[in-house]
Amino acid sequence: MKVIASHNALNAAAKARELLLAGARPLDACVAGVTLVEDDPLEHSVGYGGIPNEDGIVELDAGVMDGKTRRGAGVAALRNVRHPSQVARLLLAQTHRVLLAGEGALQFARANGFVEENLLTDTARRIWLHWKRIRSNIDDWREPPAEDVEADVAAWFASYRSPHAPREGHISRSEMPTIGTVHVAALDDRGDLACCTSTSGHAFKIAGRVGDSPILGAGLFADNEAGTCGSLGHGEANLENLSSFAAVELMREGRSPEESGLAILRRIAARAHPEQKDAQGRPRFNLWLYLLAPDGRHAGVTLWGPKQFALADKQGVRLETCVALFPGPPPTQPENPDC
Ligand code: ASP
Repeated sequence: MKVIASHNALNAAAKARELLLAGARPLDACVAGVTLVEDDPLEHSVGYGGIPNEDGIVELDAGVMDGKTRRGAGVAALRNVRHPSQVARLLLAQTHRVLLAGEGALQFARANGFVEENLLTDTARRIWLHWKRIRSNIDDWREPPAEDVEADVAAWFASYRSPHAPREGHISRSEMPTIGTVHVAALDDRGDLACCTSTSGHAFKIAGRVGDSPILGAGLFADNEAGTCGSLGHGEANLENLSSFAAVELMREGRSPEESGLAILRRIAARAHPEQKDAQGRPRFNLWLYLLAPDGRHAGVTLWGPKQFALADKQGVRLETCVALFPGPPPTQPENPDC
C-alpha cells in the first residue's frame, strides 16, 4: 500500500492512507483525500478559496483515473461547485463520457445534488482586485500605494509574483507564475492503482481556459500494468507533451519512476518555446511529476527545485524531496517551496 501526493496534500495522503487501510478502493481514497484540499480556503490553488479567472470567477478543473479499469473522467471550467473531483468521480461511475466542461459540467453536478455556492473567498477576491490594479499602466486602474496593500494580499504576491516583472507594472505572460494544484495517487494491497488531480488553474486565467488537470494523459494517468503519474505546474507544457501518459509509458517499458519522470522533464525542457526560456535555454516555468509504479516504487521529480512531495505507506505519512532537473529556484520566480 502506498500513497503519493503533492506537497500541499499531506492531510490528503493521510486520509487516503487511512481509507486504504480500511479496505477502500484506491480511487475513492484519492478523491476523499483531494476533497480535504478542495475544502481548504487557505489553499488558493484548489477548490473553495481558489484564485479566480480574470473576470473574478473561480473555475475549477479536476480529473480521476482508475488504473484497474483504465477508465477516467474529468470536469473542466466548472463554476460554483467546490468538489470537482467528486463530480469527475461520478461522471466516471454514471456515464460513458470522459470530459464535461462549463455549463454542462455544472448541470451534471446539479443533477447529482451538489450544492452551488460562491467559491470566491474574501482573500481571493482582494488578491484578484489587486491584480487588476497592478497588471497594466494603460487601463483605468490605479496601483495602490505599498502601505495600502493588505498583508495577506501582499504575502500572496510576494510568494508568487516574479521579481523580474517589468517596472511599468506589467507582468509579462512568460513570467506569470503558476500557483499549484493537488494530486493524489494510490496503490492498494491488491495491486490496484488510481489517481486524482484537482485545481483552480492558473491565477487570473482567461475565462474558459482549461488546463492539464482534467485531461487524461496530461495532468494524470493510471494503468495497473504500468503505473500512475500526475502533475502540477505549467499545464500547457503538460498538454503539449501529454506528460503523464508519456511517463507511464516509460515505466511500462521497464524504466524506474525516477528515470521516467526525469526523461519526460528533459524532453519538456528541450521543447520549451523560445519566449519561455532563460538566457541558458532553460524553461522559466516549473513542472512537477509524481510517479507510482505497480510494484510500489515511487518518485517525485521537478524541473526546478527545491520541492517536496507527500508520501504515505504502512509506516506513516511524511514529506520527501523531489529530484530536480535544475537546482533552482526558477530564474524568474522567488524561492518558494509552495509554488
Ligand atoms: N497545472 C495547473 C494548470 O495548468 C496549474 C498548476 O498546477 O500550477 O491549470
